[in-house]
Amino acid sequence: MLSRKMDICYVIFPLLLIVSCGFDIATGLKCYCSDCLDGTCDAGDGGRCVTSITKMGGTREDKISYRCLTEAKIPIRVQNGKMQGDTPHCMVSAIKKHESHIICCSGPDLCNQYLKPTYAPATTFIPGDDNSETKLQFGTAELVILIACPVLIVSILFMVLFFAYHQCQRNRHGYQMPNDASQETMPFVQQGQSSSTLREMMYEYSGSGSGLPLLVQRTIARQIQVRETIGKGRYGEVYRGRWRGENVAVKIFPSREERSWFREAEIYQTVMLRHENILGFIAADNKDNGTWTQLWLITDYHENGSLFDYLNRTVVSISGMLKLSLSASCGLAHLHMEIIGTEVHAGKPAIAHRDLKSKNILVKNNGTCCIADLGLAVRHDIATDSVDIAPNNRVGTKRYMAPEVLDESINMTHFESFKRADVYAFGLVLWEITRRCSLGGIVEEYQLPFYDLVPSDPSLEEMRKVVCDDKHRPAIPNRWHSHESLRVMARLMKECWYHNAAARLTTLRIKKTLASIANQEDMKI
Ligand code: ADP
Ligand code: MG
Repeated sequence: MLSRKMDICYVIFPLLLIVSCGFDIATGLKCYCSDCLDGTCDAGDGGRCVTSITKMGGTREDKISYRCLTEAKIPIRVQNGKMQGDTPHCMVSAIKKHESHIICCSGPDLCNQYLKPTYAPATTFIPGDDNSETKLQFGTAELVILIACPVLIVSILFMVLFFAYHQCQRNRHGYQMPNDASQETMPFVQQGQSSSTLREMMYEYSGSGSGLPLLVQRTIARQIQVRETIGKGRYGEVYRGRWRGENVAVKIFPSREERSWFREAEIYQTVMLRHENILGFIAADNKDNGTWTQLWLITDYHENGSLFDYLNRTVVSISGMLKLSLSASCGLAHLHMEIIGTEVHAGKPAIAHRDLKSKNILVKNNGTCCIADLGLAVRHDIATDSVDIAPNNRVGTKRYMAPEVLDESINMTHFESFKRADVYAFGLVLWEITRRCSLGGIVEEYQLPFYDLVPSDPSLEEMRKVVCDDKHRPAIPNRWHSHESLRVMARLMKECWYHNAAARLTTLRIKKTLASIANQEDMKI
């Protein structure tokens, strides 16, 4: 509404300008006058102000004089079809025998004060010169047109620039979810608690154990402005968004991926799932814009991005390595853990991730990790000792698939199997982290597991051959044997990627081992 009003102003303003310019020209013109008593004269309607320069001869200085020229005395001549002596300010100029030069102007008042006449070549005439060939009369109307045209062009240009600038601003800020559902949204978020931060709101509702009420989620989602892309994964794109000055991450699923969106939102809202090492879920929203449905999943934003990106960019110290590994293992242990409910408190089912890898783990600002991308996770239904959805046997990323997943020998009726496959993948992640631990200036370059054995985007067949048939595992560099913490890391990862899934460590064991090395390292510091 406001912007429409402004648009009208931008149309009306230049028109008023043009009209007012027209009036200016039509009134009597006041000129600077060197021979008048008060220094000015009146050229009348359609008249001109004149400045002339005359050669005085000898050593005397040129004489410059100023005066008025009424309309009746304006001489204009045409030579070869062209008007002569035109200047931006004056319709005539005149020169006589290279000895004098007159230039004039038609406004504004006193415009001749700053005219600087110079001697010009022949084809001259002076006002009142009877030798003039043809006379052309310019009226006020022509003058108005001549001046109004540039003003009009400049105004149009100005309007075009104004609209272009507005359009740019709109694109730069991305799109905002339309607020047409404001009736359904939550007044709590809109007015009463307008100063609440996300943290405060999550805390307010933490009693429910499963996140914000749906109406609050919807309201937050529709107040978010989407900014730049920060990641691309299996389903959709992830963007940075802004909500009341805070950064959030917005994962947008295409409408055909509604089931994936629903599943991920459902898993994040599992009772008691919230944990500092699991990506903080804020809201999910599905918005039908008439043409397609937009599916949003809003979570905490972590500017360091994924562990994969982080390790590619940086090397870590021993304590940095332990911080990343221990925090990630805490997240995974919490995911895997079953919390038995009581009459007062609801319990938490065990959850298996099924797509654990460095691209699905994020690094927080304090150098700890949180587990993300829960779209493929499955929950243990303790009542029936079964998995909560019909599991597809080969989901996840081929490079990180456990041998029993690759050769399809995994027992999918046994929930524990999925946890063991997660532990295998976690061992590969520990290997990726440890390679980037710099000791005495020595560090391995970042590499994906099996970088030396399979091509990028390997097939199931290629992975099966390397992992199941040839039983290859990532190599342990020699330098790792010379430092206690790296030695423990090497042992830990080997115990995660045993071929025999039952022999692998549990996440609780991994967490405890890492915590104890971290303690020893702290003691050394
Ligand atoms: P997909 O399910 O499509 O694989 P992910 O949830 O794994 O999507 O996100 C894809 C990428 O987007 C991640 O690898 C990471 O680089 C980036 N990303 C996702 N969530 C966040 C977040 N909360 N903060 C910062 N970056 C993120
Ligand atoms: Mg992912």
